[in-house]
Amino acid sequence: MSTPWHILGAGSLGTLWATRLARAGLPVRLILRDIDRLHDYATAGGLTLVEQGVASSYAIPGETPDSPGPIRRLLVACKAYDAESAVAGITHRLAPDAELILLQNGLGSQEAVAAQVPQARCISASSTEGAFRDGDWRVVFAGHGYTWLGDAGHPVAPFWLDDLEAAKIPHEWSADILTRLWRKLALNCAINPLTVLHDCRNGGLQEHHCEVATLCAELTELLERCGQPAAADNLQQEVERVIQATAANFSSMYQDVANKRRTEISYLLGHACKVAERHQLNLPHLKQLQQRLTAHLHSLGLPVD
Ligand code: NAP
Repeated sequence: MSTPWHILGAGSLGTLWATRLARAGLPVRLILRDIDRLHDYATAGGLTLVEQGVASSYAIPGETPDSPGPIRRLLVACKAYDAESAVAGITHRLAPDAELILLQNGLGSQEAVAAQVPQARCISASSTEGAFRDGDWRVVFAGHGYTWLGDAGHPVAPFWLDDLEAAKIPHEWSADILTRLWRKLALNCAINPLTVLHDCRNGGLQEHHCEVATLCAELTELLERCGQPAAADNLQQEVERVIQATAANFSSMYQDVANKRRTEISYLLGHACKVAERHQLNLPHLKQLQQRLTAHLHSLGLPVD
């Protein structure tokens, strides 16, 4: 019997992973917040994945953090701001050889989780797959992509990547996962906050070319200073390419704000500003961007952390 995949957080990405693993015949268990969510889930009867308009349901067993039994493989699929507290609720169940896969966007939450579970191996992931919830326990697979996985402290790939192969989850083991996470964070910092402040689609930033270029210059300085020169390589060119290629899209931060949802700002722009400060780097435009975004979120009554 292969090791069960425990999935902490049955949201968009958690469901996308859980359903594909279950479809491949692999053992999967969902860990829901509490008994109320578990009852709600039991009433629904399972998770539904919608792919190209076709819905398929999977009766994946659910449990709560207080359920019995050890956890050896845990996919943490919460938002960055929930990861630390969600993991704190299940540490008592982690086996001595437990492995955690952290799907959070941005940086900062991975370090916080790893510090909580020093005995476990923590693997970070960076994904370009896209999914959203169109109902409770129901997720739409919106954009095919790739997931890079890596462990900055231990370069050997885990054997269970075979499970991802079987589940047809496109992935690659990355020897430089930190570079990938920093690069993605920098792209996010250069694009997402401005789409919120200018109230536009990604393509709308073509009219704010100078502002984007100034931010890219400061982000490049930051990446070079914090030992991530590869993540800084041709950053501005890639930002411009992404703006063009995704011109019709609304950024994830734009969508969060439009839907009055909490953003992951602390783990994106907030993290960049915190690291700049730690290195005593003066990046005035980045700092001003954070202040403008914080004021904007505050004015909408949204959390600023
Ligand atoms: P999401 O849809 O909001 O799902 C998060 C899930 O975590 C929710 O179901 C939430 O439960 C659950 N949760 C929170 N605290 C919990 C706890 N203590 N115990 C159990 N469950 C808990 O978020 P998402 O879109 O999947 O994003 C997850 C991460 O992946 C984020 O960092 C995001 O930036 C990243 N990401 C997402 C996508 C995407 O397309 N969605 C793509 C790339 C990266 P409730 O349902 O009870 O609130």
